[in-house]
Formats: sequence, structure tokens, C-alpha cells
Amino acid sequence: MAQAAGIVNIRRDVDDKFYRYRMPILLTKVEGKGNGIKTVLPNIPDVARALSRPPIYPTKYFGSELGAQTMYDSKADRFIVNGAHQSERLRELLDGFIDKYVLCGSCKNPETDLIVTKDEMIVRDCKACGQRTNVDMRHRLSSYIVKNPPKKSKKEKKGNGDAAANGKNGDADASPGDDGEGSDDELTKRINAEAAELPAVHEKSGLGDDWSADTSPEAVKARTASIEGAFKSSLVIGGDDDDEEAEDTDSPYYHLKTWLLENREDEDITSVDLYKKAQQLGIDKKYKTMQTIGEYLFSEDNPPVVPESKMIKRWTPAIKKLIIAMKDSDKAEKSLLGGLERYVGLDRPDLIPQVPKILMAWYLDDWIQEETVTQWGTHVSKKYVDKETSKKVRLAAKPFLKWLEEADDDEEE
Ligand SMILES: [Zn+2]
Repeated sequence: MAQAAGIVNIRRDVDDKFYRYRMPILLTKVEGKGNGIKTVLPNIPDVARALSRPPIYPTKYFGSELGAQTMYDSKADRFIVNGAHQSERLRELLDGFIDKYVLCGSCKNPETDLIVTKDEMIVRDCKACGQRTNVDMRHRLSSYIVKNPPKKSKKEKKGNGDAAANGKNGDADASPGDDGEGSDDELTKRINAEAAELPAVHEKSGLGDDWSADTSPEAVKARTASIEGAFKSSLVIGGDDDDEEAEDTDSPYYHLKTWLLENREDEDITSVDLYKKAQQLGIDKKYKTMQTIGEYLFSEDNPPVVPESKMIKRWTPAIKKLIIAMKDSDKAEKSLLGGLERYVGLDRPDLIPQVPKILMAWYLDDWIQEETVTQWGTHVSKKYVDKETSKKVRLAAKPFLKWLEEADDDEEE
């Protein structure tokens, strides 16, 4: 099967390289020995994100299919299945999970929401065909889901986005999954359509290696080495370097920056151009690319403060595609946020009060995820700007972070 290494169709039975719904291939790593042997699922958060399901669901599903205990180590953010399990076996199980808990029972499209009904049934609500199909309630995962229903997406409350960004409490809507679908639907379609125009990952030769699903120690080591090599001198990973870096005009990031400065105002330049530029510079898998984008995507007169604006949406397909293609999307998002710190902290201090709106805009368009931005917001860092500026930016972000938190509380009631 001609697949880009590392990325597969969500439905692996569909042998179509233009199939629109893709996910990172599930990686596994066996650790320990004897009684303590266990299988770690390093990228299940990314896989689950592609499926729009909490990562704990597929993990629990594996456990119940294999009759094995599962664990979530929240400190290290690791999902674990006890025992040694072959990756191919787990991938097959994942297919089963997808079939039962993700794909629409009617049209087999993966764009569905899971809804727990009042009488404790679970339905898959399909965005593509509008059908609601029942989930098999006999499976053990189903009872787990009833007790731990998916969090309602705060994006459904986006009508209140502006108020929330200003620190006011958005109204909580009590009917999960029922509001705001029309617009969301169209948006999703449009983004997917645009994303489909982007060159597939494997079309550029040689890129496959970075994505390799090969988890052999040698392969992992090689990948780590290449990443470390690329970043050794950069601020992204070497957090303690001073930020008085001289600008290296040979660096691909410098080229990206120049390109952004020259093209960001040009209405004819699209998301596809941005993505292709990053590819052409060979940095489409590099975290620092996100930093550069965060810092230079928006021009002087056009701060990205309006959620759902054309200016934001224009870039969304490239941003999302870049993030999902990086090894650790959490890191990619943090790098993007680092770019934001530099943008408002160094270039546009007058925009600092607007940080909640910027974050809201980015969040609503899926540039950043809740966990990432929450973590970012509570950890001052010298990685991208000096400590004072870092603090200032995070302080300014408070209303947005508070809103995220309150939206969570609403769900629990
Ligand atoms: Zn359907």
C-alpha cells in the first residue's frame, strides 16, 4: 500500500491516498520486563486528536480487548497498557475502536461527535450525513464513556467568544452537540477542502523518514539525533541561551520570515503557498517554523484579534497541517505561542491587552489546543522572550485561560 510513512487513512481499509481523513499511525513502545512489562502509547494523544476522541478512550478499548490493565500517568502524560503487545495488533484493535466509536454507522464517515443521551445511550452524530447511529452498549468501553462522557467542545459556545475574551462569563448551553453545527460544519468542510489541495506529505521525496513509524531503537535514535542536530544552536530547545542571537541570513527561518514579511499582505497568497514555502525550505517538520509563523504572520495593521475572521481562516489549513505533521504537536503549538510572545512582547507591546482575543481566535480555529495553552499560560519561560515579558504576556492571557477553565466547570455540572 502506498502510504506516507507515519500517516495513514483513518479507515485503513480505504486504499486511497487522497482519502481526506488521516491520522498518525499508532506507535508503541514496550518497556520494562517481567511482571512490570508494559506497552507505552507515545502518540495516542495525536492519534486521538485526529479522531476527535479523548486519548483515554482508545487506551481503555485496548485494555478491555486485551484483558489488560491500562494506566494514564498524568505527570508524564503517558498512556500505558500493561503487558507486551505488538504494534500491529494494537493497530488492528484501533481499527475496531474507530469502527465502533468513530465512524458513522450509516455512511462510515469519521467526522462524528459522541453524545451520551439522557437514557445513557451513546450515539455517533455524523457531521457528513446527519444520521445518528447507536454505539454498541455491550462493550465495556461504552459503560466507561457513559460515566466519562466526552467533554463538550467549547467551540460550540463560540457565539460568546468575544465576551469571554474580555473576561466575562460565556453562557453555558446545556445541550451538548446541538448548537452551532451549521456554521461549524461548513467551516470544517472548507478547511478540509483546502487542506486536500495541499500537497500530500509523501509527494516530496525523502520526507518520509521523519515520519517513520519505525520504533526500533536505532530508528528512534537516528530521529532524535537529527532533531537535536537541527536545534542545537536554536533557542527553541536550548532554552537557556540568551536571546541576543545574531540573525543568520542563511537560515531557512530567516527566509521564511522574509517571505512572510513580503507576502502576508498579498491577498493572492494562500495557505497552500505558506505550506509549500515551509516544505521548500525543508522546515515543514521543524518546531521553529511555528515560532517564525507566530511572530511574523500578522502585519502591523492587521493583528489577529478577530475570531473567525478571514485573516485567521486564510492560514488555518497550513497551520493545522504543519502542526499535525510535526512529531509532537504539543511542542509545535508551544512554539507557535512562543512566536506570539515575540510578536506582542517585542514588536507590539500595544497588543498585549489583546492577547486573550488572539488566543481565542487561534483556539477557535484549532491552531492551539486547550491543554497546550493552559500549560503554556501557567509556566513562565525564558525560551522566547525575557522573563518579564513572558510574565506580562501570560498575565494578559488570564481572562482567556479563566474562560477555558470555567467552560470546563460548566460541563461538569
Ligand atoms: Zn454519516
